[in-house]
Amino acid sequence: MKLIINGKEIVAQPGMTVLEAAKAGGIYIPSLCYHPRTGQAGKCRVCVVEVEGMRGLQVSCNLKVQDGMSVKTKTPQVLAAQKLVVDLLLATGKHDCIACESNGKCELQDAAYYLGIERAPFKYDDIHYAEGDKSAPFVRLDKDKCISCGRCVVACNNQVVNEVLDFAQRGYRTEIVCDDDKPMGDSSCVQCGECSQVCPVGAIVDVKSVGKARSWETKVVRTTCPYCGVGCQLDLHMKGDQIVQVTGTEEGSPNKGKLCVKGRYGYDFIYAEDRLTHPLIKENGEFRKASWDEAINLVASKFKEAIDKYGPDSVAGVSCARSINEDSYNMQKLFRGVFKTNNIDHCART
Ligand code: SF4
Ligand code: SF4
Ligand code: SF4
Repeated sequence: MKLIINGKEIVAQPGMTVLEAAKAGGIYIPSLCYHPRTGQAGKCRVCVVEVEGMRGLQVSCNLKVQDGMSVKTKTPQVLAAQKLVVDLLLATGKHDCIACESNGKCELQDAAYYLGIERAPFKYDDIHYAEGDKSAPFVRLDKDKCISCGRCVVACNNQVVNEVLDFAQRGYRTEIVCDDDKPMGDSSCVQCGECSQVCPVGAIVDVKSVGKARSWETKVVRTTCPYCGVGCQLDLHMKGDQIVQVTGTEEGSPNKGKLCVKGRYGYDFIYAEDRLTHPLIKENGEFRKASWDEAINLVASKFKEAIDKYGPDSVAGVSCARSINEDSYNMQKLFRGVFKTNNIDHCART
């Protein structure tokens, strides 16, 4: 179906929201509580627009597209309403961007920039935790920067189903809590970092990335997680040749942005000084460095020796779940086709 946004014709799929259609058509509408995976919450009310034939302002993340719809996103009324919401959100927290980990990748900052807000007009009432919750090893919660969008609550409860986060208190004192208001490090949190991935501001951040790089200094390299056979897609945030953060690739299958604690935070091993970078052959109880040709020839000769002496069924192979499918396929071809045995298995089969 087709709709008109700010005079521009946009092609949209039935079921899309106006916000999604605008985004697909390259038109920015500030929004904070909406995330493709946590859905349209309709809470923050920043994404309001005018729609011809509809009374009052409409929340674009909650409004389905209709063929022939005419939408305006930049009328004085729309911009004034958006500015008031962002002004109020800026007053609910300590948004001193300079040293904030999310400076440059913050959706509240983007909205304020779009609306030309240089200084929050409302006074911030310092009622929250000035120190933040630093009790957990990988995820840090700074309630002073929380805008109560609810994305982390939905992600923790519905996406990764760990059911740790929820809202507590009411009104201005609304805050995110872990379990029954425990420090995150003492709660049932498994440190998957899903909440950090969806948080639009600097309220939940990855501890390992703090102070490592400004967002504009990094480039993203996509890769596959090396830990298990699920094959989750990762975005490595690189400063030079150093990884400063790992996030799940939102559009990548099979994980669609989600990661476990190992995939998201267990990347230091690649810089370990005692990491094996070449084959080792053990002789007289001692390992010595060997070339790949030498190591492969040795393994081949040992297989041949056993098969010649005791027959094909004297050898067996177990493929590793960290291998890619193609390597596991080749391994069973080697055992069945070359060694002539069906003694081949995979560690993830049981
Ligand atoms: S959360 Fe965003 S708006 Fe708030 S201080 Fe950090 S960068 Fe600035
Ligand atoms: S790290 Fe994972 S389990 Fe812990 S609060 Fe965040 S989403 Fe929930
Ligand atoms: S911690 Fe982040 S994701 Fe959670 S409610 Fe606050 S701003 Fe939203």
